[in-house]
Amino acid sequence: MMKTNNSNVTIVGSVALDSIKTPFGEKKESLGGAASYACVAASLFAKPAMIGVVGSDLPKEHMDLFKSKGIDLSGLTVADGKTFRWGGYYEYDMNQAHTTNTELNVFADFKPKLSQEHKNTKFLFLANILPSLQLDVLDQMEGNPFVAMDTMNLWIENNKSEVIKIIKRTNLVLMNDAEARQLCDTPNLVLAAKKILKHGPNAVIIKKGEHGAMFFTDGIYFSAPAYPLEFLRDPTGAGDSFAGGLMGYLAKTNNTRTENIKKAIIYGSAIASFNAEGFGLENLKKITMRDIKKRYKEFENLVKF
Ligand code: AMP
Repeated sequence: MMKTNNSNVTIVGSVALDSIKTPFGEKKESLGGAASYACVAASLFAKPAMIGVVGSDLPKEHMDLFKSKGIDLSGLTVADGKTFRWGGYYEYDMNQAHTTNTELNVFADFKPKLSQEHKNTKFLFLANILPSLQLDVLDQMEGNPFVAMDTMNLWIENNKSEVIKIIKRTNLVLMNDAEARQLCDTPNLVLAAKKILKHGPNAVIIKKGEHGAMFFTDGIYFSAPAYPLEFLRDPTGAGDSFAGGLMGYLAKTNNTRTENIKKAIIYGSAIASFNAEGFGLENLKKITMRDIKKRYKEFENLVKF
């Protein structure tokens, strides 16, 4: 039987070399970026296509990792220049990342050109990157994909109107608690979710780091618990691996109904919890479906009463 090679979830976002310090360790220039975490997480369920750019300095082992996960790299440009870099640190409150440096490098003038296959993707995840780039990818869509988006404080501060433009064209908005408060000018997350929904998306997920996630749609509220982790080493990429796992599951099941999104949220939470137990992508690249299913069951038990 011929194996199909078609990707079923397209993901645009940063591919980075991250320098991270947490109270439990430090790593310089390790593989990171929203698209890296999201694609590796999504690959547990589906075949992701990565849209982005890296510099010629990206170590080959990182490309090898993407290939080993079956990620479609035909939309990943290798440009002359330096890969995007991000530096950050966390204190004991690991829900709060402190950025020390952001170097866009090859992302500064990247213009994605999507293939026909990517333009007709059924699932599109706009992971964190310049909002203008997220919009560019959205504009190239020819089908009617299910669109999810993420962003960050930097873009809400500097490019708020573009962020709102994207929200208006998105089915599912993903944001962390601080970003939702910042975007909506309110300390109350329920009100923030309502304000976001008023822009037109079908649903909003507000991620609360180690405290779980809130899901709002059509008058329905669902609360996903957080896994009680004893060893949280590095939360970088938790949001991206959550979103990648969630979108991978939706793509695999080809079902975006509310009940299925709830399951996808739990799968995403399980994957994000493994991710935070290791540094960078070290855990994400190792976990298997068996690990995830076991943790999914544990999540079920957390909310049964
Ligand atoms: P998260 O911890 O899920 O919010 O995302 C962490 C990832 O976001 C890191 O691996 C960074 O490389 C990436 N990142 C940080 N700042 C930016 C930015 N301004 N644009 C795109 N990606 C970024």
